Amino acid sequence: MNNFDVIIIGAGVIGSLVARELSRYQISVLLIERNSDVGSGTSAANSALVHAGYDPIPGSLKAELNVRGNRMWDKLAAELDVDFKRCGDYVVSIGAEELPALDILLEQGKRNGVPGLQLISSDEIKRRIPLLNPDASGALFAPSAGVCDTFAVTIAAAENAVENGVKLLLNTAFEGFIIDSGRITGIHTNRGDFHARWVVNATGVYADDVMHQAGVRPEFRIVPRRGEYCILDPDSFKIDTVLFPVPSEKGKGVLIFTTTHGNTVIGPTSEFVADKEDKAITPVGQEYLTANMNKLMPSIDLRWTIATFAGLRASGNAVCKNPMTDYRADFIVEKADEIEGLINCAGIESPGLSASPAIAARVVEILQETGIGLNEKADWNPQRKRRPVPKHMPDADRQRLIERDPRYGRIICRCEEVTEGEIVAEIHAPIPALTYDAIKRRTWTGTGRCQGGFDMTRVVEILARETGLSPMEICKNEPGSAFLSRASKKAEVS
Ligand SMILES: Cc1cc2nc3c(=O)[nH]c(=O)nc-3n(C[C@H](O)[C@H](O)[C@H](O)COP(=O)(O)OP(=O)(O)OC[C@H]3O[C@@H](n4cnc5c(N)ncnc54)[C@H](O)[C@@H]3O)c2cc1C
Repeated sequence: MNNFDVIIIGAGVIGSLVARELSRYQISVLLIERNSDVGSGTSAANSALVHAGYDPIPGSLKAELNVRGNRMWDKLAAELDVDFKRCGDYVVSIGAEELPALDILLEQGKRNGVPGLQLISSDEIKRRIPLLNPDASGALFAPSAGVCDTFAVTIAAAENAVENGVKLLLNTAFEGFIIDSGRITGIHTNRGDFHARWVVNATGVYADDVMHQAGVRPEFRIVPRRGEYCILDPDSFKIDTVLFPVPSEKGKGVLIFTTTHGNTVIGPTSEFVADKEDKAITPVGQEYLTANMNKLMPSIDLRWTIATFAGLRASGNAVCKNPMTDYRADFIVEKADEIEGLINCAGIESPGLSASPAIAARVVEILQETGIGLNEKADWNPQRKRRPVPKHMPDADRQRLIERDPRYGRIICRCEEVTEGEIVAEIHAPIPALTYDAIKRRTWTGTGRCQGGFDMTRVVEILARETGLSPMEICKNEPGSAFLSRASKKAEVS
C-alpha cells in the first residue's frame, strides 16, 4: 500500500512525536527516515535539557512553543516511560558586569510565561553550589527546567506511533515531491513513490533543502551550528542541577549538567559550519570548552573526559515575527503558502527538544484546520513501557527475571552493567535495533569508561546470532560501517 493520508519525512524527535500525535486519529500515516534508525540525527546529539523558556525572545514562536512544550513533559515522559527529571537550572553571573543580564532574562522569562523564576544572591548560590567560581555574583533560578533522556524519548515516541498503526520505513530517503495541479500529492524516495494528502517536512538541518524542492520559502536557509561536548567519567563529578553562564551572541553558552544516565556533560560550543554533516571534534572547540567551563567551576578538569561528541543545530534565518525584536532566528511550524499539501517544521534548533511535544500538537492543529478530518480512534494507547533494566531493579525482582530468562544474568557491558537479555529484547523490539549504535542508544552499552572495548565484539556476535546475518554484515550505524572486514586466524565466519 503506497497511499497515505499523511507522510512525515524525518524520524527525529519532531517527526516521531508528530507521528505519535497523528496515530491517535483514524488516518493512515507513513514515517520515513533515511538513516537505519530513528533518532540518529540532531535528536541524538544535544544537551537533553527541557528548557524553562526564559531565553527565547518574547513574541517568538520559539518562546511560545518552548513554554507550552515544557508544561507537556511530565505527561509525555510518564506515558512513554522515559526518564525526565525537573531539576531546575541556574544561570550564573560572574562578576558585577554580568549581573544585569540576569534581570533581562528574568523579565524575558516573565513575559514568556515561565513559572517560578527567582533571582538568587551571590552568597546563596555559592551556598547551594559550593564548587562554583567564588566570583559568582548571582543567579537566576528556573525550577521548571529539566533533564530528559533524549535518545529514549524519540525511540519511545516512534515505537508508540508504530504500535498505534503508523508505518515506519527506515533507510528510506526523500528525493523529491510529486506535484499535481499545484498540490503535493506524494514523494519520490530511494524505495519508490508514496502518495499522500499531506506531507510533513521534519528533516532537521535539511528542512530548507526539502522545502525548496517544492518552491517554498526560497529565501530561507539553514546554516548548521555545531556544538561540541565532552562527557566526563561518571565517577569523577556529578551535579543535580543545570548550570548556565549568562548568554552571549553565540547562544546559551557552555553548560554543566549530569545526564539521566549519570554522566556529567560539558558543552556545547557554537560554530557555524558549511557542511551539514560536519560533526568534527576540534582542538579549538576543546579549548573553548575548558575556558568556559572553568569560568563557572574552576575545579572541573577536562582530563576526566571519557568521550566527545558533536551535534548540529538547524539554525535558520527565519526571523521572529515581533517587529520590536525582529533579530533572532525563529522556528518555522506552518502550512506552506506557496503550495498545497505541505507542512514545514524548520529551523528547529534549541529549544526544539523542549518544544517538541508542543510542535507536534501544533502540526496536528494545522492539519485540523485544513479539514483533513481527524477522528479519534477508540483504541489509541498512549502508553509505551520500557523493557526490563536489571541494573535498576530491586534484588528480588532481578532474581525472578534471571530465573525466567538467564540472559538477564549475563553481563555484556561491564561498565554500564548491560545484560544479554536487554540487548536481545531491543533486537526484537517493535522497532528492531539492528546496529551497534542502535543498541547503544537504547541500552547504554559501550558508553562507560571502556567505550565499547569489552562489549563491542560480543554485541556484534549477539546481533549476528539473533538476526541470522553474518558478523561481517553487522554495522556500527549506517551501511558501510561494518566492524569486520575479513576472517583472520582461520576463524569460521558464516
Ligand atoms: C549542540 C546542540 C544542543 C542542543 N541542546 C538542546 C537542549 O538542551 N534542549 C532543547 O530543547 N534542544 C536542544 N537542541 C535542539 C534539539 O536537539 C533539536 O531541536 C531537535 O533534536 C531537532 O529535532 P528534529 O527532529 O527536527 O531533527 P533531527 O533529529 O535531526 O531529525 C531529522 C531527521 O530527518 C532525517 N532526514 C533528513 N533528510 C532526510 C531525507 N531526505 N529523507 C528522509 N529522512 C531525512 C534525518 O536523518 C534525521 O533523522 C540542541 C541541538 C544541538 C545541536
